[in-house]
Amino acid sequence: MLDGVGFIGLGKMGLPIATRLLAKSNRLSVFDTRRAAAERLAAKGALLADSCAAVGDNAEVVFVSLPSPDIVREVALGAQGVASGSKVRIFVDLSTTGPRVTADVAAGLAAKGIEMIDSPVSGGVAGAVNGTLAVMVAGSAPVVERCRELLATIGRVFYVGAKPGLGQTMKLCNNLLSATALAISSEAMVMGVKAGLDPKVMLEIINLGSGRNSATQDKFPKSVLPRSFDFGFTTGLMYKDVRLCLEEAEYLGVPMWVAPAVRQLWLQACSELGPESDFTAVVQCIERLAKVQVSGKS
Ligand code: NAD
Repeated sequence: MLDGVGFIGLGKMGLPIATRLLAKSNRLSVFDTRRAAAERLAAKGALLADSCAAVGDNAEVVFVSLPSPDIVREVALGAQGVASGSKVRIFVDLSTTGPRVTADVAAGLAAKGIEMIDSPVSGGVAGAVNGTLAVMVAGSAPVVERCRELLATIGRVFYVGAKPGLGQTMKLCNNLLSATALAISSEAMVMGVKAGLDPKVMLEIINLGSGRNSATQDKFPKSVLPRSFDFGFTTGLMYKDVRLCLEEAEYLGVPMWVAPAVRQLWLQACSELGPESDFTAVVQCIERLAKVQVSGKS
């Protein structure tokens, strides 16, 4: 039995995940620098903490879902970080930060007697709401077992190894494929539309044929053709993930040729559309140059 659960980072992913955890644990302590986000959960019965350290005072296991490696490091080990809390023993990182930072943070936490579970997730906001995420877990097996019921509330748990960082590597492989699929599908769709093809018919053919991927099956129909650009993941986070993946590939001595081109497109999208834009808007960078729009509203 775990003595209290904490959650820090109640954004697009964190809020629905924490909401599911709240249903499992009647003592969920929450914190976010955007107080309004934490208040939404407090309204449902969560305990509102006023710092990361306070969450560490209230809970034996603390989950985080944060936007960048530096923020994860600060939230875990900073002056007012979780590790300075009196009760915390397990730190579960659901963010995508890359294996190097995870290994550093795990070492810093271990020095304070806290175990790290590296546990990035995939499946988007819909997966977070429905509890159907792919949860890529690395860490000490007995510690993972203690948290298994909570992790299973989030989605399907895949134990990928004992070394914190392996979950991150798995996640970066997945997100490189996701970023590449959206980038290359944008190029193909813009080309087809410029030649005079109907984008709806294009997607039907591709999704029955060999070109289908997560962008053509999900992102184009839901967020590009209706021009809503509201899939729920930012351009800045997508660029971060491809950048982290390339850094890791270089560290491991794995040559990559396609990934640097994909990274360039996401960097361009960040500067053109802004890092807070929805990542499905990346198609607009190609549309602008081609002077055509991929729209279902013809
Ligand atoms: P987000 O920006 O919507 O949420 C991040 C939250 O962290 C925000 O509420 C922000 O206020 C809070 N925060 C920032 N700094 C903080 C601090 N110092 N202390 C406490 N709270 C702080 O991001 P998101 O889309 O929910 O993604 C979170 C993580 O999950 C990222 O690492 C991302 O790569 C990963 N991820 C996102 C998705 C997705 O579809 N959005 C899918 C899988 C994984």
